[in-house]
Amino acid sequence: MSQDWAPMWKELGLDLKAHDELLNVLGKFYNDIFMSQKDRPQGMQYFDFVMSEVHGLRIKELLDAKAQSRKVIATFCLYIPEEIALATNAVQVGLCGGAEMGFNIAEKYLPRNTCSLIKSFFGFSEAKICPYFEASDLVVGENTCDGKKKAYEIFKDLRNLYVMDMPNMKHEKGRELLKSEYIKYLQMMEKLTGKKITVESLKKGIHIANEKRKAIGRVMDLRKHNPTPISGKDALLINQVAFYDDPLRFTDSVNKIADECEKRVKNKIGVVSKETPRILVSGCPMAVPNWKVPHVIETNGAVIVGEESCVGMRNIRNLVSDKGNTVEQLVDNLVDRYFKIDCAIFTPNKDRLDHIVQMAKDLKADGVVHYSLQFCTPYNTESHLVENTLQKAKIPLLKIETDYSMEDMGQLNTRVQAFVEMIKK
Ligand code: SF4
Ligand code: SF4
Repeated sequence: MSQDWAPMWKELGLDLKAHDELLNVLGKFYNDIFMSQKDRPQGMQYFDFVMSEVHGLRIKELLDAKAQSRKVIATFCLYIPEEIALATNAVQVGLCGGAEMGFNIAEKYLPRNTCSLIKSFFGFSEAKICPYFEASDLVVGENTCDGKKKAYEIFKDLRNLYVMDMPNMKHEKGRELLKSEYIKYLQMMEKLTGKKITVESLKKGIHIANEKRKAIGRVMDLRKHNPTPISGKDALLINQVAFYDDPLRFTDSVNKIADECEKRVKNKIGVVSKETPRILVSGCPMAVPNWKVPHVIETNGAVIVGEESCVGMRNIRNLVSDKGNTVEQLVDNLVDRYFKIDCAIFTPNKDRLDHIVQMAKDLKADGVVHYSLQFCTPYNTESHLVENTLQKAKIPLLKIETDYSMEDMGQLNTRVQAFVEMIKK
């Protein structure tokens, strides 16, 4: 870290002892998983720096923004449009929840058989180890899966929480619901920030979010080349940092990596040899510091070339049109884009099945690893349909259901190794 941030953390009300433990684990994990990689693009140094300052400099930036009367909004889900926060000059950050910390506290509120992601956000909040929660003015949740929905009913007594309603089916009524929720959310944000959203401010928000998507998309698209210019772990890190870094600085840094990766592709420089089996990972989002499965895949002789996930393609696919002369027309454009997100909370969800096959083909993946968290009903159940679809497309599949603990590492290594060997044959 660039300086001693302990006074800032104390002021925020963090439990310093528990927070130190988290930083120690995070630091060790990061060194073992990321710094041990060879031939990384030079541009990844920016992300190493961001990660080293994830609870330091970035939090200071959020506090500085608040001192200038800007609001900080913390979110959990892709359906919360960053464009609206940007249009009110607020800062939007994604809350991570990718580690098994504070689970004992979370389990005082939630059943043990709740998915790790939900337990983790509860634990991070109530164990007082997440400076993002403490720095935020408002937490925005959404009625997506049942686990989150019911958890928010408890969470609303612990944090300043706003919950957005979500459709479950992609028909006209579902679209209308999403639009009315976005309008309600926009009005709430205007009230919270004291800023009226105009056509110009919303167009500016749309532009910033689109540029971010385009920059990440450039890097992700280059992974279709063989050898791939960037590892799956580094690509995942870019997708993870997208949720809390300053959007303009982030976009600039990602474009630099894309330029570097373009040169690598031109010069046939890759992070692995051409013979390395190529894997598409599909399923639940992987929040920082949930790097377990990608690390297992990439230390067992394969390379990840794509993420069909919310921390991946679902976040960057499809841009928002900026055509329109009224705020309502622009909200319609937001709905057009966000309604296409093919999260497993939707039923039926054929778009996702088709998209997995399409991604596997576009990225020339040799196989798919379907990753779902234990007790995640939407993704676990949908994995059956994913299996049928991939069978028809003759694409090998390995289904992994896991949590944040390290207890199944031995078993995961064995299964992934066998899958990689099978693909090689
Ligand atoms: S998986 Fe679904 S509920 Fe979870 S972040 Fe993505 S869109 Fe939201
Ligand atoms: S991983 Fe599954 S159960 Fe957990 S929050 Fe996401 S959709 Fe809900």
